Amino acid sequence: MHPELELAARLAAEYYDSLEQGRISLEASPDELRARLAKDLPLEGIPAEQVIRELHEDALPGLLNSAAGRFFGWVIGGTTPTAIAADWLTTTWDQNAAAYACAPSVAIIEEVVGEWLKDLLGLPEQASYAFVTGCQMAHVTALAAARHHLLAERGWPVGEKGMAGSPPIRVLVGEHHETLLRARRYLGIGTAAVTQVAIDENGVVMPEAMAAALAEAPPEHPTIVSLAAGDLNRGAFDPFDVICDMAHSHGAWVHVDGAFGLWVAASPRLRHLASGIAKADSWATDAHKWLNVPYDSGVAFVAHPEAHRQAMSIPAAYKVEVEDVRDQVDWNPEWSRRARAIPLYAALRNFGRRGVADMVERCCDHAAELVQRIGELPGAEVLSRPVINQGLVRFLDAGGDHDARTDAVIRGIVESGEAWFGPTTWNGMRVMRVSVSNHRTGEEDVARAVATVRAALEQAGR
Ligand SMILES: *Cc1c(COP(=O)(O)O)cnc(C)c1O
Repeated sequence: MHPELELAARLAAEYYDSLEQGRISLEASPDELRARLAKDLPLEGIPAEQVIRELHEDALPGLLNSAAGRFFGWVIGGTTPTAIAADWLTTTWDQNAAAYACAPSVAIIEEVVGEWLKDLLGLPEQASYAFVTGCQMAHVTALAAARHHLLAERGWPVGEKGMAGSPPIRVLVGEHHETLLRARRYLGIGTAAVTQVAIDENGVVMPEAMAAALAEAPPEHPTIVSLAAGDLNRGAFDPFDVICDMAHSHGAWVHVDGAFGLWVAASPRLRHLASGIAKADSWATDAHKWLNVPYDSGVAFVAHPEAHRQAMSIPAAYKVEVEDVRDQVDWNPEWSRRARAIPLYAALRNFGRRGVADMVERCCDHAAELVQRIGELPGAEVLSRPVINQGLVRFLDAGGDHDARTDAVIRGIVESGEAWFGPTTWNGMRVMRVSVSNHRTGEEDVARAVATVRAALEQAGR
């Protein structure tokens, strides 16, 4: 046996368990971390066990313990022990998941997980899929398929001719995540192509506004309609059913950003929010967020497999063709790649359909309770109650400087180490985001977080 492997497993397990009680926030400054980690590169190698032990000790004070149940920042998810264990096997097996020929079991596992996910998330059976690093690259993959498809339909083979001189693609969006902007930039679709479509007070695209925007150009004009399943601040869902019909009658492609929101489709109680979503043309989501598998794990789905394949595949003389299998290199932006569907395979079997639904519903319930109970504290104001697992609050100042007080309270919470919430600017106000996406979050974490907010409010004065 290799003792360094056992040592790492023991240290990792200890760390995982310590998250239950320990501090959430960073303790060390950049200089302190450099003093610990910036060692001289040795001429002679250091024994493995010492390297692993020191790595653990030196890095620990600079770990943001976002996998803990009392972390409510961004949308970061956690990890289950099952997914972590499968990830260890993935690393140890060291398979290159580029093609069947270099990793047969992995290619089959990806087929299986792709089918499971389409079923679980209510997506069309014929859709193709790609396991990528995150939702960012899922957008790139899906929108590359969109670009290929829309331009091919208009007689422009983009793989051959590129974008210069092509029919200009336009993009219609409501609430959107910045990663969509960058995905389009990678694909030669700049911000000038984007029309912002009006949203209502719930952050949802207004169908009349979308109809008007679509009508501004004739159907020959290649158009991508970009919708959100669960926006970052409020968890709002666009009206997929009506907008997909509308977009398709104009020959447009509908892409859905469902980084975390797509997972409501796994819950019988919540899936009505995503009603009509299967009518879209492509979807992007993350498994490292709400499914709680380790980084990096995003998934793209495309309702037009041929466009997806043509946008992604590359010929190579040294490819080993095997009949009747799916070579991932034909569907992904990468060549050599991690077998990142393996933790998904394990997580989905471990949760089962009911387990995924339970976790998603539990996160939503905890988010609702957190927002409710924080909102009841003196000086707190609820700005957005969770539609799913995201809510917004702020803290009012007797002198009128609500922004400063909100920032001060958030700072107090983070510095306490007891819980973690992040700030953002929303509708011109500083606000605190409340986000729950970790299977570990329980009643006790909610109670501790509320007590922490109460203490920070008192400490920040009025
Ligand atoms: C997190 C997120 C993304 C980006 O996903 P990555 O996995 O970080 O690439 C895109 N859209 C939304 C709505 C998100 O929450």
